[in-house]
Amino acid sequence: MLNPHRRRGMLLSHLSWLALLFTWVSAAALSGCGPAGAQPTPTLSALASIPENATATSIAMTQLPPPDNLPAEPNEAVAATPEPGSLIPTPEGIGLRPTQAYQQFVPDAGPAAPAEWRPPPYDVPLSLHPDDHYWMGRPLPSNRRNYDLPWYPFGNDVMIPALAPYRIHHGNDFPNEQGTSIMAVSSGTVIHAGPMPSPRNGVNYYGNTVVILHDWQWQGKDVYTLYAHTLELLVAEGDHVEKGQLIAGVGSSGEVTSSHLHLEVRVGRNDYAAARNPALWLAPYEGWGTLAGRFSDSRGRLITDADIQVIPVDVDTPVRTQRTYNRVVGSDEVWRENFVVGDLPAGRYTLLLSVNGITYRRDVTIHPGQTTFEIVSTRFEFMPTATPQPEAGQDADNSGENAADEGTATPTPES
Ligand SMILES: [Zn+2]
Repeated sequence: MLNPHRRRGMLLSHLSWLALLFTWVSAAALSGCGPAGAQPTPTLSALASIPENATATSIAMTQLPPPDNLPAEPNEAVAATPEPGSLIPTPEGIGLRPTQAYQQFVPDAGPAAPAEWRPPPYDVPLSLHPDDHYWMGRPLPSNRRNYDLPWYPFGNDVMIPALAPYRIHHGNDFPNEQGTSIMAVSSGTVIHAGPMPSPRNGVNYYGNTVVILHDWQWQGKDVYTLYAHTLELLVAEGDHVEKGQLIAGVGSSGEVTSSHLHLEVRVGRNDYAAARNPALWLAPYEGWGTLAGRFSDSRGRLITDADIQVIPVDVDTPVRTQRTYNRVVGSDEVWRENFVVGDLPAGRYTLLLSVNGITYRRDVTIHPGQTTFEIVSTRFEFMPTATPQPEAGQDADNSGENAADEGTATPTPES
């Protein structure tokens, strides 16, 4: 009798054949794209049959009480917190549960172009604030979607209750159509190029994956970037690559349901548990900045999974909703943050942090090209609760080399 993992393995082996065929077709499509270093945007129109359930998703932002109705005193409890349900964005299109991912290994065209215009990113390295280290470019061209999926932030489960639980995200996702150019975010040496099966159970969650060890160190530590679920690999182990060099095409290899790049930044070790928030490394867009901070309790312990809202005051930006990091992800060595809201146009915002029914408010200003950092402490001790993990998480304890993977996380492209 087959146990579920065995059955899963057989399905995956069928899928491996599909993947091989797919890769072959893809290679044919990509081989005419010139040498690495050029940056065309190959597409696979013949394979771009979009499943009905992979429609573009738009996030309906909730109307919130006007910030003016909330007291501005630091750490003051807010009586009228938004209703719990109103904190969550409502997707119009629902993706697939991660456990269903292997049944849906289908090409997905994804968005043909960025849904929203964004300015070009700043040149790197950029460190206007002494603790900033925006040393990496974007992994995707400016004429494609080079900003991440807002409803699956680093350190969070998906922000869509109907889909949860996913794995706590250890990277950022960039939905794009099959074959969209993936570029090295900085110079370095390719130390892995190929499928990356879990050493624990052999499941190729990440799919075709490139890992780059960068030429420089930070805080005396090596820094790596990982590019997962690619359609095709255009570099090999041992290759040296420059920033902006074409290394792969966006795909849906591994355990995913839709075409996207999963990017991780790893500091100190090439290890899943060493993942850090890419938003603190990727250069902001010109005129845009980053909000980060630390939300801790009366003993200085980080508060996990607290609701965060960032509401623009005089900026034409939708409300951003996410949570403080789950305990399974690590903070930046310098910032020691437990939340980051990246890609905010410079301007004034209201930051709301909610835990145990109490909301804390800060008025913050985002400055171009740098990080605004907010430290908020509660007057009580916070007791974290255990986080449910999806089925595939049984094989992952986040302690082994690449043992775990968020590859089961399969967001549908957001519009
Ligand atoms: Zn991801």
